[in-house]
Amino acid sequence: MSDGISPGHEDIWRSVGENAGGWDIAGEIPRTVLTELGAAGLLCAEVGKQYGGLGLGSQESGQLTAYVGSLCSSVRSVMTSQGMAAWTIQRLGTREQRDVFLPQLTGGRLAAVAFSEPEAGSDLGAMTTELRLDGDTVIVDGSKTWITAAAYADVIVVIGKLGDDAAAVVVPTDAEGVRIEKIPHPMGCRAAGHAQVRLDGVRLPAANVLGGTGLPLPFLVTTALAYGRMSVAWGCVGILRGCLDAVTEHARSRRQFGKPIGEHQLVSRRVAELYAAEQVATAVCRQAAESWESGSPELVIATVLAKHVSATEAVRGTASAMQIMASAGASDGHVVARAYRDAKLMEIIEGSSEICQLELARHALATGNSTVRQKEAQ
Ligand SMILES: Cc1cc2nc3c(=O)[nH]c(=O)nc-3n(C[C@H](O)[C@H](O)[C@H](O)COP(=O)(O)OP(=O)(O)OC[C@H]3O[C@@H](n4cnc5c(N)ncnc54)[C@H](O)[C@@H]3O)c2cc1C
Repeated sequence: MSDGISPGHEDIWRSVGENAGGWDIAGEIPRTVLTELGAAGLLCAEVGKQYGGLGLGSQESGQLTAYVGSLCSSVRSVMTSQGMAAWTIQRLGTREQRDVFLPQLTGGRLAAVAFSEPEAGSDLGAMTTELRLDGDTVIVDGSKTWITAAAYADVIVVIGKLGDDAAAVVVPTDAEGVRIEKIPHPMGCRAAGHAQVRLDGVRLPAANVLGGTGLPLPFLVTTALAYGRMSVAWGCVGILRGCLDAVTEHARSRRQFGKPIGEHQLVSRRVAELYAAEQVATAVCRQAAESWESGSPELVIATVLAKHVSATEAVRGTASAMQIMASAGASDGHVVARAYRDAKLMEIIEGSSEICQLELARHALATGNSTVRQKEAQ
């Protein structure tokens, strides 16, 4: 089975690696590249083969995500959005909805997922986007912000309030009343197509409401975000791996004071910090992926832990990498300069570090070390 990295996909990944710096500077990935990746099933690799996907398990999909993250965090971000949209459709959609929408997402159509609003960031309970059922149609009104990949998307999975509950609706971006405005000059993942999305009286078939009904907002958010967090966590592993490659090469070849800089102890300490960051991030991601594959009840908290630890390690590790590269990495587009900027955003998205810490603390306070004891006993 293809793991999405090889064989057969070398050319497209080589092209992503070679062009990532230029796309970062231009703030755009050519659409043909994204549709080619999408049509090869590579942007949502966990979707099953019956829907045209690669059917990868969580570990393999994670390794693919890390690989893409090591080449280009913007492409990896688009991949996270597409995967999250597919996961949400798979989990919440009816059989008919899966049959209609999933083959589109493995066939080259691009997707985004929209939770955040100008007044509802960490506090998603404050969202005001409204879904109203009207006969066999649904009307969507609201405003979403910082939606990754929305500038490229053919469809956006929009989360909004539906009566006392919430629901996810698949919104084609060419529907009347949808307006998409690209966010200018994002600090990182600059080519990931972040955009504001306005929805003014968008009328769609009610069949586009996933599952056809309302669900509690926390359930809906946790379901969709779990996939996004896992993907971001592996993306952070990729950021660290990209830095390790660049830095070890540089520390061996760049000479100052008569020897390679890697032989100066203060520099080698930073190489060690970067190496440790990559190892720690990989370990928590592997552990969380294990929970996904075994269907463990620990899945949600293991995913929050993986996202939080990986993002924190990515920020620390990329700072070490930047210091080692110094002027050699200090230009826009350079893999380490990109990593340094991209990593910081990973502490903000899919539940900021503070929101993840609150969830981890709540879990620890509720369970003490009983989960640790259970694991040790296995
Ligand atoms: C690059 C990027 C990509 C994104 N992609 C998407 C996307 O695809 N889809 C989508 O829906 N959204 C997306 N977002 C939005 C993202 O989810 C929000 O930015 C994030 O949830 C934080 O919300 P906020 O920026 O409004 O910060 P705020 O919620 O205003 O928080 C500001 C600060 O206060 C802290 N804070 C808030 N509440 C608490 C609390 N109770 N306790 C302690 N600290 C707290 C936060 O951690 C943060 O440090 C993206 C954002 C970025 C930057």
